[in-house]
Amino acid sequence: MRVLVISDIHANFTALETVLADAGAVEETWCLGDLVGYGPDPNEVVEKVRGLPNLTCLLGNHDVAAIGKIPLESFNGDARRALEYHEKVLTKENMDFLLSLPSNLTVKGDASLVHGSPRDSVWEYILNALSARLNFGHFTTPWCMVGHSHLQCMFRLHPENERVTLESLKVNEAMTLKPRLIMNPGSVGQPRDRDPRAAYAIYDTEEKKWEPRRVKYDIPAVQKRIREAKLPEKHAVRLVEGW
Ligand code: ZN
Repeated sequence: MRVLVISDIHANFTALETVLADAGAVEETWCLGDLVGYGPDPNEVVEKVRGLPNLTCLLGNHDVAAIGKIPLESFNGDARRALEYHEKVLTKENMDFLLSLPSNLTVKGDASLVHGSPRDSVWEYILNALSARLNFGHFTTPWCMVGHSHLQCMFRLHPENERVTLESLKVNEAMTLKPRLIMNPGSVGQPRDRDPRAAYAIYDTEEKKWEPRRVKYDIPAVQKRIREAKLPEKHAVRLVEGW
């Protein structure tokens, strides 16, 4: 089965549409959360995602805030301003969809799925080998897919010495998966690894292959909508630089 794995779309509809077109035909889509926050298109993104066939979708920390389950004060000023806007403009149907999503670790075959980390499903960032190492004991499947950091990356646990290393990935090239791994498809709508292209991954469940992919999208069109919505200028600038 060919699975599209996406995360951290952050109300960037142009990036999402570009990724869906670039991915081609898939049997399932797994979304690791943060549909909203930061960007100008919360309704368009939620509508598109909830219409995808064979969807598994988790709540991210920004989604949790937009549906009112945690105070917006948990976020810094610029992130909070976008969330206040989203809370105001989201339609009832889109709110209800977000309210229906689970935030806990979800198992799909060989893969565990979670927004943050296996031991703290909403909030913890897996940013380096140390934070990855602390999490390998908190899931039982061969690999775990995480979002949240907006970094397209993969960590490997070497069973012989318990060491964890950061794997080097080749973009747009499928690699064969061997236990045990924590991987992040990267962020569709706000990459933070200095590569501004939208990030996602294709996962083949039978071949056990993972292909980290990047695709260019129309960033100026998104920036224009960010400015029209009077969202913080920072959210527009960072898209070009990928941070
Ligand atoms: Zn995010």
